Amino acid sequence: MSDSPAPPADRPKRPGRPAPPAPPEGPGRPGRPQKAAKPQTKYRRLVRCGSCCKQFDAGELAPGERFHCLCGALLEVPASAPQEAPVVRCAACGAPRAAGAVNCTFCAAPFALGEGARNTICPVCASRIGDRQRFCHACGSEIAPEGVVGERTEFSCPSCRPARPLSSRRIPDAATALAMLECGSCAGIWLGHTTFESLQQRARREVVAESLARPQAPVSAVPPGAARTAAPVAYRPCPVCQKLMIRRNFAGASGIVIDVCGTDGLWFDAAELDGVLAWIRAGGLGRSEARLAEERREAERRAARAKKELQDLEVEQSPERHWLDMLGSLVDFVLGAGRLR
Ligand SMILES: [Zn+2]
Ligand SMILES: [Zn+2]
Ligand SMILES: [Zn+2]
Ligand SMILES: [Zn+2]
Ligand SMILES: [Zn+2]
Repeated sequence: MSDSPAPPADRPKRPGRPAPPAPPEGPGRPGRPQKAAKPQTKYRRLVRCGSCCKQFDAGELAPGERFHCLCGALLEVPASAPQEAPVVRCAACGAPRAAGAVNCTFCAAPFALGEGARNTICPVCASRIGDRQRFCHACGSEIAPEGVVGERTEFSCPSCRPARPLSSRRIPDAATALAMLECGSCAGIWLGHTTFESLQQRARREVVAESLARPQAPVSAVPPGAARTAAPVAYRPCPVCQKLMIRRNFAGASGIVIDVCGTDGLWFDAAELDGVLAWIRAGGLGRSEARLAEERREAERRAARAKKELQDLEVEQSPERHWLDMLGSLVDFVLGAGRLR
């Protein structure tokens, strides 16, 4: 396997199928050893999120390593080996292949494995497919990764000891490479303030649909084992500036305590991002804002009531005080008169 310079062992065995195109430095130059022994094919391993169906290129991560979907779900890189699969779907449009058909009835594309490298793994059926295929030729799934996960950075995980490098994520709507850093070991995630803001906004847009579907969604989506309540309170260093982060109950009411660097961003332990986003989707942020607004209104009402009571008291008191004054004068008068006698 790793020390074999021969063509890939997974050469197709089915008769009648064209052989895949030879690699550039392959049989054409028989005397030349393979370039600096890259031991294994590096696959573009696509992983699909079970909750929102987004796909990610997790080829940089090892099997078993975990990362977050943009919806907050925690995904794991599967260990399954890529499968060779016959062409039963159109790689250009996903349409099924009629028996013996050479070209797709819908888009006229040929039913053959495309040109170029075939180092992509279908996120649904784990078939080995062409890097430029738009659909899997085995299961017909659309191939549309959202971004690449797992590029190692020089930043360290604030949670793991010994320190472990965080990997960065390229996501389309993030301004910088620092927008999202992840630890493949503890599955913690670091988000820049802007990235978290856009994820929050996305979750808020989903509020209506989800809260209609399940009006009383549980507020804390953090599984009991995943909460860091058991561990003693520890302040962790910001992976970017190394200053200790502050711990904050997200939105003051979610019950999910996250680590925040005011300058750089926020750190979420494995299930916390999912918990925070689920809480927002369940209308938590709206409720928390409504609660604050209601508290403000109640304070105003109390202040107004107190002011009114004070005024009423003054109004009530004035004749009373007047009467008491008169009584005092009368007593003074009587006593004075008595003394005069
Ligand atoms: Zn997802
Ligand atoms: Zn087609
Ligand atoms: Zn497939
Ligand atoms: Zn970690
Ligand atoms: Zn910082």
